[in-house]
Amino acid sequence: MTVTSQRPAAARSSAELIAVEEEKLAHNYHPLPVVVAKAEGSWVEDVEGRRYLDLLAGYSALNFGHGHPVLLDAAHRQLDRVTLTSRAFHNDRLAGFAESLAALTGLDMTLPMNTGAEAVESALKIARKWAYDVKGVAPGRAEIIVAAGNFHGRTTTIVSFSDDPVARTGFEPFTPGFTTVPYNDLSAIEAAIGENTAAVLIEPIQGEAGVLIPDDGYLAGVRELTRRTGTLFIADEIQSGLGRTGATLAVDHESVLPDLLLLGKALGGGIVPVSAVVGRADVMRVLGPGTHGSTFGGNPLAAALGSAVIRLLETGEYQQRAQRLGRILSARLAALVGHGVVEFRSRGLWAGVDIDPRVGTGREVSERLLAAGVLVKDTHGSTIRIAPPLCIEEEDLHLALGALENVLAG
Ligand code: PLP
Repeated sequence: MTVTSQRPAAARSSAELIAVEEEKLAHNYHPLPVVVAKAEGSWVEDVEGRRYLDLLAGYSALNFGHGHPVLLDAAHRQLDRVTLTSRAFHNDRLAGFAESLAALTGLDMTLPMNTGAEAVESALKIARKWAYDVKGVAPGRAEIIVAAGNFHGRTTTIVSFSDDPVARTGFEPFTPGFTTVPYNDLSAIEAAIGENTAAVLIEPIQGEAGVLIPDDGYLAGVRELTRRTGTLFIADEIQSGLGRTGATLAVDHESVLPDLLLLGKALGGGIVPVSAVVGRADVMRVLGPGTHGSTFGGNPLAAALGSAVIRLLETGEYQQRAQRLGRILSARLAALVGHGVVEFRSRGLWAGVDIDPRVGTGREVSERLLAAGVLVKDTHGSTIRIAPPLCIEEEDLHLALGALENVLAG
């Protein structure tokens, strides 16, 4: 093996770095051609020094923006103390994190994990075990109801109940035990629930599907149906939670408390991966030593950051910003309907915008916005998703939406 000296990344151009990525990285993403070198708040800067407004915010992992001083401070202080113990030992940050999550959500106990998909996988395991140990479902028969159009991650089990052919094809054989019903259809859930149903797993708002918002009463209806039938309600708030919709959780809009709540993305402040299953004590207690685990889950750095994120949310400031700026977002998008936008859906500072195909695909509009200094990403062909950091300045939001208006006008 020869060891070649490489120029430091900072000395290479965007084009050079993209060419290396093309050759050396798996092609499981199709990034926009921008190479970010640094970032602050809602602005990022590429290696050539061009600045862009970030309207994707790491798929909502950056709800508090890039480099939030409080979160950086929490990370720096914890880096100097202890970063990893594994759960073989206790660490002095984890208890407080679990207490804060309970206080924030109204639920009892936390299972700390790292990525969103791990939180989903963990909840599926808890639901199955609860079905056998508590509900009395016959071994191997537990069923979990999911919604069409869902996105819960990329593991083999999770893609088993995706209906996106790109996410699924070639990854068979699939995990059995899932029943898919249409989203936003209570009677379909009611018809699907049977004696073997362990849980209903839904996103309170379907993010990847294009920010699909169910009718008022749907979440309360799922809660009522699951309660009545002795079925668990699992709400995946990995993308919709932690301030994005103008409330701490999207289920708060209907005053609903699920049995298991899944958090991720912004829980780590965009600094480290932190996810969690937060749930009712009697359900969470089905897990015993050895039944589940994660080397990094609940590490002190993650717990310190998660606690700092929760402290930011406790003030209500970010939820209020999402509401106030969300009104501006939806008013300006409404003015674009018929002018390059077919339809949009928004809640808080989060919108799915269906682009008129005559203007271009979602990808083409994203590329034109990139050239205009604004970062967004298409989802499902003609839809772009707008989810700026909740700390975005009002004038910057106007700047970005002005750029969208110009791009759509051609
Ligand atoms: N669940 C939802 C609702 C998501 O939006 C995502 C990611 O986009 C996930 C789960 C998976 O999270 P991760 O990419 O951290 O595994």
